[in-house]
Amino acid sequence: MTKPRSPVWHPFTQHMLQPDMIEVARAEGAWLETPGGTRILDGISSWWVTTHGHCYPPIMAAIQEEAGKLDQVIFAGFTHAPAERVARGLLDIVPNGLSHVFFSDSGSTAVEVALKMALGYWRNIGEPRRRILALEHGYHGDTIGGMSVGARGVFNAPYEPLLFEVGRIPFPGNGHERDALEVLEAVCAEGDVAALIIEPLILGAGGMLVYSPTVLEDLKRVCDRHGVLLIADEVMTGWGRTGTLFACEQAGIAPDIMCLAKGLTGGAVPLAATLCTGAIFEAHLSTDRAKTFFHSSSFTANPIACAAAAANLEVWKREPVAERIATLGQNQADRLVAFRSDPRFKAARRLGTITALELEVRDSGYLAEVGPKLYRFFLERGVLLRPLGNTIYVMPPYCTTADELDVIYQAISAGADALTQ
Ligand code: PLP
Repeated sequence: MTKPRSPVWHPFTQHMLQPDMIEVARAEGAWLETPGGTRILDGISSWWVTTHGHCYPPIMAAIQEEAGKLDQVIFAGFTHAPAERVARGLLDIVPNGLSHVFFSDSGSTAVEVALKMALGYWRNIGEPRRRILALEHGYHGDTIGGMSVGARGVFNAPYEPLLFEVGRIPFPGNGHERDALEVLEAVCAEGDVAALIIEPLILGAGGMLVYSPTVLEDLKRVCDRHGVLLIADEVMTGWGRTGTLFACEQAGIAPDIMCLAKGLTGGAVPLAATLCTGAIFEAHLSTDRAKTFFHSSSFTANPIACAAAAANLEVWKREPVAERIATLGQNQADRLVAFRSDPRFKAARRLGTITALELEVRDSGYLAEVGPKLYRFFLERGVLLRPLGNTIYVMPPYCTTADELDVIYQAISAGADALTQ
């Protein structure tokens, strides 16, 4: 299953401890396959990107078709049909009030763009505000802005000199809602706050921590009262993961800025979008070139990626995706029942298609040995899960069947047997 050492440097990988990578040659549905034909069940949608399933035919067909027509074109001064289709299609389905779409390439860049839009807005309207607020335990990517607004810890300690200060709002989990709202209110009242960035309803890399739609609605209300822009980072939560197309829908809120990536193309190719209100776009609209939104990357709105995203939008329109999500959510819920009364686990929880639970071990936390041990244990059983320390979560593609879920949960139970003895 493994190959000799290679010159490739892999992400979030300690090569000394994990020298060999598993080569994957093909994928279909919820399955990855090695060149030798070993199959691995993808229980985390390949880092939360694959929504309908790997190599989903209509998306693959759109990529192939576009690749025969237009590979790439500079996006300053030029446009193309797939980008226009995606932008209009997104505006039909996102919360009301968002009216402009800026493309980039990853969740991290979508967040950088969002932060720059917020600061640019305040500067261009002649009321420069400088402070950014973020939720405790948040994760927003690995670029400098994304790391700055994310929780500080082992992931970003070496890069600390590059990071800017942000105001932290306590995580508004069960019983801490009031704390969060009071701190937000107090910090906003001090003034100079440009924006609050949040992951709506569930903090992904922070440990699959959930909070209620009501508190999200309240956070938005406090922001509105102080004119603070709300940035909803839906990079993980978007595209049905939380049970609705976007998590913000469950709180009935419309953010001022929204970040999308991962499932935007069904998870097939990289593309991101940062959506904003007319007020933010118009603050950058001027005969004064200094008010331009100064952001680009070479591959902004790559036509092939946009064709994949346009096909994904069609899939959502034409296929019963919401029903598939509801079924997967129910199947996930059914399998979690046994774990709720299992003393080896605690805090079993579900939001939409995502489940998470903590394995009771003395040595928890992200760097705890239990994480890599479980990871290897699951892989030996042909299941890809990547626990966050002792937090095991399941976030499969929407095509995952009840039988396939059984394989995943049997592996989790066996993992607990093996590691808690
Ligand atoms: N924001 C959130 C909420 C995420 O979960 C992630 C990645 O997991 C990112 C941003 C960064 O996205 P990317 O890895 O595509 O840069």
